[in-house]
Amino acid sequence: MLDDLVIATHNAGKAREISELLRPYVRHFHTAGELNLPEPEETGDSFAANAKLKAVAAAQASGKVALADDSGLAVEALDGAPGIYSARWGGPEKDFNLAMEKVNDALSTAKSESRKAAFVCALALASPDGECHIFEGHCTGDITWPPRGDKGFGYDPIFQPDGHAISFAEMDANDKQAISHRAKAFALLVEGVFNKAA
Ligand code: IMP
Repeated sequence: MLDDLVIATHNAGKAREISELLRPYVRHFHTAGELNLPEPEETGDSFAANAKLKAVAAAQASGKVALADDSGLAVEALDGAPGIYSARWGGPEKDFNLAMEKVNDALSTAKSESRKAAFVCALALASPDGECHIFEGHCTGDITWPPRGDKGFGYDPIFQPDGHAISFAEMDANDKQAISHRAKAFALLVEGVFNKAA
């Protein structure tokens, strides 16, 4: 059991979700927001690099173990775009209808006809001395059009996971949770760190 963990986010909703997942393994949760830690610029060129950057900065600034995540949608025929820019494709208004249209428009002029894509979630766990471990979960599927469903968030309405006939936004939260990139990354983290330490 870990005494203290800093969740390296200023997003209260994300912090709550992560602390619920890790409650059995951690005594006290803190967030970068509550501790007023500076938000580092996400200058990495991969999900893992950005997660590491955020976790290491929070661990060094707080003197405690810190966890950060970075996630997004990588579309094969778009050379992995929107990728680490997934949140930014929605513009300053975070308009995901616009972001989904951008994906569909880009696919209509792409050289490859592939509709394959993957959601990716990278988790980075850093200690104050700079040691950092990465756990990455993927969920593969196809980009569908038009958007379907009103559950979930972000690009969920245009992502149909492999082996399913409905989009992420048409799935119940528990069903998405069972196969999602985020769930897989957390399972790897728990298996690799917390269960081992138990
Ligand atoms: P962040 O890691 O919180 O910065 O999220 C990056 C962006 O990736 C989000 O704003 C969403 O657009 C997208 N994204 C990440 N995970 C999901 C998901 O499970 N469904 C839909 N979109 C997602």
